[in-house]
Amino acid sequence: MRILLTSLVFLLVYCAEAQTDQRIYNIIEEVSADRIEIDITTLANFGTRHTLSDTLSSTRGIGAARRWIKKGFEEISKNCNNCLEVSFQTDLVKKGENQRIGNDVLVVNVVAVQRGSKYPNRYIIMSGDIDSRVSDPNDFTSDSPGANDNASGMAGALEAARVLSKYQFESSIVYLGLSGEEQGLFGGQGFAKYAKEMGWDIIGVFNNDMIGNISGVDGIISNTDFRIFSEPVPPTETEKERNSRRFYGGEVDGISRQLARYVHRNVETYMPEMNPIMIYRLDRFGRGGHHRPFNDAGYAGIRIMEAHENYTQQHQDIRVEGGIAYGDVLEHVNFGYAKKLTAVNAINMASLAWAPPAPKEVGIGGVVAPSVRLQWSPVEGAIGYKIYWRDTTSPTWDHSRYVGDVTKFTLEGIVIDNFFFGVSAVGENNFESVVVFPNKIMR
Ligand SMILES: [Zn+2]
Repeated sequence: MRILLTSLVFLLVYCAEAQTDQRIYNIIEEVSADRIEIDITTLANFGTRHTLSDTLSSTRGIGAARRWIKKGFEEISKNCNNCLEVSFQTDLVKKGENQRIGNDVLVVNVVAVQRGSKYPNRYIIMSGDIDSRVSDPNDFTSDSPGANDNASGMAGALEAARVLSKYQFESSIVYLGLSGEEQGLFGGQGFAKYAKEMGWDIIGVFNNDMIGNISGVDGIISNTDFRIFSEPVPPTETEKERNSRRFYGGEVDGISRQLARYVHRNVETYMPEMNPIMIYRLDRFGRGGHHRPFNDAGYAGIRIMEAHENYTQQHQDIRVEGGIAYGDVLEHVNFGYAKKLTAVNAINMASLAWAPPAPKEVGIGGVVAPSVRLQWSPVEGAIGYKIYWRDTTSPTWDHSRYVGDVTKFTLEGIVIDNFFFGVSAVGENNFESVVVFPNKIMR
């Protein structure tokens, strides 16, 4: 009896542990707040990184900043047997494109690709921004440290590269520094277009924009809350798809939303101390970010950022006014928090890059029936599949069932009308693809 109990306990412990992968915990540990602090400090010390600022100086302006970032990725690459392909990606934006482009300007992004061993053309992207601004968006000479907006996101991408370059992945991971954000999302637009032309299969963009402030203008201080913004459905959907949603659902189940749910779930599993908040919108009210151009191009993309913003420390001339110290300066950045959000990116990129692709086609049926039928296209490299479902009012996939290596399954006793459903592919070590919402109706 005793032996039986012991082995039962062992089995339970073993099964519980088999759900997680120790390497993901290691990745969280390996992200360094000190290195992030060093990089944010260096970026802030370029004086200004305004998109139209000086490009010739080696100490001030966006030219110096982007060359330093490129060198940073090259150093990291040296330490991993040249595992990163580092380059500039450039677009000319013409004077007058909008009111914030006062001169012709080369918008230059820095790209570092860690090539996947099995799916080299399948990409997961982590982006931060190189550029900064003060009160007047056209002021390209005043000091604009942009320590939080967005040296924090840029430093996070560099640090994620440092940590993940020690591992090998099946899919490619891209660490991306984008420019022209504050002038109208030009860097993201240019890069999304480039990726489209190159035929990249981008399965997710994690846009990091402001990941270092823990003290909100609302008085709330939290180093565990953070937000995941995602649009409900892609802007590229067809009229037919839009019509079909009225009858079969999917109003809040687009590809970016599934990516957001993936991050939320993975964080709850591996970083239970964090409080990820799903925000059901593309971005903040009336404001923008660099995931949007990727969404516009039909790619899944989300914004990861602090939960409590402080507007006196964004897009502000450095000054004291009415007793308030304005400006996006180093002193307001919490490096320990930036480390946590960098880890959020790193573990999700690693999980996706170790997972098989998602099923392309997922069919669903069960009209006027006491059960739900699901069927999906097989995925090479998957060892099995997982069916997810949730109440129609729930933001997250709350129920799941691993169904093994089959391509169809009937959930008995579950009425299709009362839940939403999806399917993911499961690979070695339990790494899973993003959940796919049904895209085919079975009669
Ligand atoms: Zn900004």
